[in-house]
Amino acid sequence: MEFKIPFNARAHAYTKEEEDSVLEAMRNANPLTQGKYLQEFEEKLRRYTGAHHAFGVCNATAALEMAAQLCCFQNGDEVIIPSHTFTSSAYPFAKSGARIVWADIDLHKRVVTAQTISDKITSKTKAIVVAHLYGYGADMPEIMEMAKRHDLLVVEDAAQALGVEVEGKMVGTYGDFGVFSFHSHKNISTLGEGGALVVMERKLADLVPGLRHNGHCSFPYERDDYWIPAMGNVDFPQLNGQTLWPSNYCLGEVECALGLKLLDRIKFINMKKRERAIRFIDTLEGFPELEFHRVSSLRHNYHLLAARLTNGKRDEFVRRMAGDKKIQCVVQYYPLNRYPLYQKAGFGNADCPSADNFFDNMVSFPFHYSLLDSELEYILKSTQDVLNELRV
Ligand SMILES: *Cc1c(COP(=O)(O)O)cnc(C)c1O
Repeated sequence: MEFKIPFNARAHAYTKEEEDSVLEAMRNANPLTQGKYLQEFEEKLRRYTGAHHAFGVCNATAALEMAAQLCCFQNGDEVIIPSHTFTSSAYPFAKSGARIVWADIDLHKRVVTAQTISDKITSKTKAIVVAHLYGYGADMPEIMEMAKRHDLLVVEDAAQALGVEVEGKMVGTYGDFGVFSFHSHKNISTLGEGGALVVMERKLADLVPGLRHNGHCSFPYERDDYWIPAMGNVDFPQLNGQTLWPSNYCLGEVECALGLKLLDRIKFINMKKRERAIRFIDTLEGFPELEFHRVSSLRHNYHLLAARLTNGKRDEFVRRMAGDKKIQCVVQYYPLNRYPLYQKAGFGNADCPSADNFFDNMVSFPFHYSLLDSELEYILKSTQDVLNELRV
């Protein structure tokens, strides 16, 4: 189908200054990876988010892989993860040896809460993953208090939520680990791929450079000649007596140079998306059968603009928007327990009625940053038309 307004897989266009930063790094970065741009990018991200330690990596999934490894799961340990999230929030934890237990979401907020997580805690629970989905910051103060009471590690998947604040503190910096993505879809992108891991504790943060880069480390003794016995050493990063296998998750210098510039723009991009979302939601006020989550504060960056149809006519709505109006709405976040991958791994069961209800009735509108005002108006008008048709 040819769409007049596709659900764009690219969120934004670059400015001249951002393009120049890429050319500058292409010409001058030496080395082209693991150099000064990475250091500057990490420092800027750390300051912007208020994190203790920040690491640039090739994507948010790599950051989640490392967070999962650093949880040091033992046989039988459980990790609580929302069933309504992107797959990368979950499978790294299964790979690292944990048993996944699915948590439900709050039907209105579309994210987990202290209550929905508590419902799934057992004596085996070791960690929880909180996904700030759609760009909305979950109830982190309550969740952290609950996690402390039960002595749980907290991983925040803030892949969609860079710059989102809950009670004056940025999401990603509440938990033991926080993850951000600079993938093509996200509010800022370092040329399609990119991500970051932020870490609370120094002891864990000290292991990230080795984990991220092949286990490269120095020799534990002074060498007389820099090439004897070898130019460099590799060894296992170790935590609590466990040896962790390293990977190569590095982020290149050109991406970091661009990321440095994009961090100057994220606040503005988030603000613009939020303003647009609120206008969109308010314009559709007369259609209560389309239920939005309206948050006009820094707590939502509206990475995505999603709504739940309460009239049971979601599929007809999407079909008419696509067929009659040529607008590509999508449905998102198939409950993970329904996927073959999780079913085959033994995680096919979930007791998550709100996650199921939300997915089965939700629609996500095209809402990339580069959408024109005229296109947004067309989506609004078309939505009103289709909803009116569906009323009769
Ligand atoms: C995009 C996304 C990821 C993965 O990000 P990548 O950078 O593509 O690896 C993880 N979790 C959530 C919630 C996401 O939206």
